Amino acid sequence: FRGFIGACIDIHDRKLAEDALMQSEQKLRELSEAQKRFVADAAHELRTPLTSIQGNLDLFVRFPHIPEDEKKEILSDVQREATRLGRLVNDMLQLARGDAGATLRMDTIHLDQVVLDVWRDLERVSPNHTMQLLQVDEVEMLGDPDRLRQLVLILVENALKYTPRGGAVNLEFRKLGELAELRVSDTGIGIGPEDLPRVFERFYRADRSRHRSEDPGGTGLGLPIAKWIVEGHGGEIHLESEMGVGTTAVVRLPIRFTDEG
Ligand code: ADP
Repeated sequence: FRGFIGACIDIHDRKLAEDALMQSEQKLRELSEAQKRFVADAAHELRTPLTSIQGNLDLFVRFPHIPEDEKKEILSDVQREATRLGRLVNDMLQLARGDAGATLRMDTIHLDQVVLDVWRDLERVSPNHTMQLLQVDEVEMLGDPDRLRQLVLILVENALKYTPRGGAVNLEFRKLGELAELRVSDTGIGIGPEDLPRVFERFYRADRSRHRSEDPGGTGLGLPIAKWIVEGHGGEIHLESEMGVGTTAVVRLPIRFTDEG
């Protein structure tokens, strides 16, 4: 009988090992698919501004006597597209470093100060929106100050970008026990239910955002970077949204004082 039980355990163990192997093979396949997709999407995104720059420079070479005002227009087009290229490359590099296992720098910071700094900088350059700070609690915790600054910047800039002139952007930063909660809400164009589950995918941009006449040319990498920063701090991020009503980005970070757990 003991022999029989032993054989059963043996079969059971082997089955477990086979399952684990299959799961890790599946994971590897998925990772390799994701990498391939990232490279293909990146090439596609880089080609668009590059083609525009090449086209404009060709014009210059072929027609050296273009009127001054047209020259200016062409040059400012080239400048805009070059800026976009730079932004894309920076964002891609950051995500690639994250994929390669780059870690966050952990300092003791006053997160409320980081939030306030970003808010004030953006307030100065956003005359077309009503910006209101609803609440800012003091929070001291361990975190990467540069990355958290970038996180707040991505969320507030998105709120401004996707809210037409005259709309409102509000921010609340609360200490809820062991959690710091940041809410950035806007009265903007909103995100449809078909797009909402996909906005954290790399390069994903809702069609409505892409085709807005005043589209400032996002990279579709802001939210994936935001997610990487939040998860690197052991937190969670999600968006709540209603088309034509507005969007709220919610971030919850554990307030930690040591690197463990
Ligand atoms: P982007 O550079 O395009 O802003 P993100 O990764 O930051 O890239 O956002 C992905 C997409 O999510 C945006 O293109 C837009 O469609 C949608 N989105 C993000 N934030 C908002 C918001 N506050 N209001 C409406 N749509 C938003």
